[in-house]
Amino acid sequence: MDYTKSSKKELQKEYQVIRSRYEALCSEHLSLDLTRGKPEKAQLDLSNGMYAALSGCDFQMDGIDVRNYGLLDGLPSCKRLFSDILGCRPEEIIIGGNSSLNMMYDLIAKAYTNGLMNSERPWCQEEHVKFLCPVPGYDRHFNISTSFGMECIPVPLHTDGPDMDIVEELVKDPSVKGMWCTPKYSNPDGFVYSEQVRERIANMSTAAPDFALIWDNAYAVHCFEGTLVEFPDMLGICREAGHPDRIYEFASFSKVTFAGSGIACMAASTDNLAYIRSILKFQTIGFEKVAQYLHVLFLKDKENILKHMEKHAEILRPKFQAVQSALQSELGGLNIAKWTNPKGGYFVSLYAMPGTAKRIHALCSGAGVNMTGAGATYPYGRDPEDSNLRIAPSYPELQDVVKAMEVLCVSVRLAALELLLQK
Ligand code: PLP
Repeated sequence: MDYTKSSKKELQKEYQVIRSRYEALCSEHLSLDLTRGKPEKAQLDLSNGMYAALSGCDFQMDGIDVRNYGLLDGLPSCKRLFSDILGCRPEEIIIGGNSSLNMMYDLIAKAYTNGLMNSERPWCQEEHVKFLCPVPGYDRHFNISTSFGMECIPVPLHTDGPDMDIVEELVKDPSVKGMWCTPKYSNPDGFVYSEQVRERIANMSTAAPDFALIWDNAYAVHCFEGTLVEFPDMLGICREAGHPDRIYEFASFSKVTFAGSGIACMAASTDNLAYIRSILKFQTIGFEKVAQYLHVLFLKDKENILKHMEKHAEILRPKFQAVQSALQSELGGLNIAKWTNPKGGYFVSLYAMPGTAKRIHALCSGAGVNMTGAGATYPYGRDPEDSNLRIAPSYPELQDVVKAMEVLCVSVRLAALELLLQK
């Protein structure tokens, strides 16, 4: 049944059916959560062995005692581990604390207080600072921008990356100081930037000399179906394009070992890193090295990390499959929604009938299913179409994902029927 081609009478009849399904679900008094992309307990348990290594270890690595002060920008062995994954050189890496998001915030904060290496002045002295935000995107990126008072400029994200015709035009404005990118298994669509888009990003001419490409490679090794998409080193691509200082790449082990208790890194040109270190030295004597040490002992190298990620994939795959089969069986053919089918990352993006996302969110809440707020995937929480919803199936148990998806799909249908019947 195509809802958009059905008569009022057919829609009325369907409305009664779906309304009673919704009421039956409400009477189950559910309490389910599809909000944030968190690993479930079994995924966290995969890394318990990391702390088991603590008993009997000697805390010595790279010629130092990791329990003591020293090494502002991290253990060389830990840099090698990240460089193995990202493809850049170990000397192009700074190891930070537990969170890549915190390192991104810190970079922007430094841009405001000190300026970046090629800035004419600190960004706090600029009249206007704008940042490009491919949408839909990661709400916490946009929140960093808005917390500093930047203007967020939404740019459509296609299956192969941001709309580069638009980006290349916008960067002619010197107040456009950077762009947020999640290039692999993007949050929330799960899209992978194509080689052509990556080349255009590296090669484009920006009016701002200190344009900061925030290359958040949060899902560098996070494939749950098929073969991992491999990216060549983006630092090298920017260098070859003549823009070595443009890129700041981030990654972390949050969703490899323990979420929020992993290790994070920033990769950038050696000149950029020398500049960052010259400010960082006032901020800390050094980040937590015992955790870096344990991660190196436990994860060893890229090959071993990929084996470890296969265990994550086995836990995640059935949940993502449950999401796809619910969407297909409940919404397929109704012509009221489309959705993405990612092979990695932590999210699925649902595009409901324009004008219904907020209503769907409310209906889900009414039936005890908590979804990320409608609009959260857009700067200022404003989805101009009121259409996009982010599905995060990793944390609940499989049977709860199945139930929550039923509630979501029934809500998508009900909201569409309400809208169509109003017309
Ligand atoms: N970047 C993206 C795109 C994310 O989706 C997330 C978490 O969901 C993060 C960063 C957070 O990473 P971290 O735990 O390293 O701060």
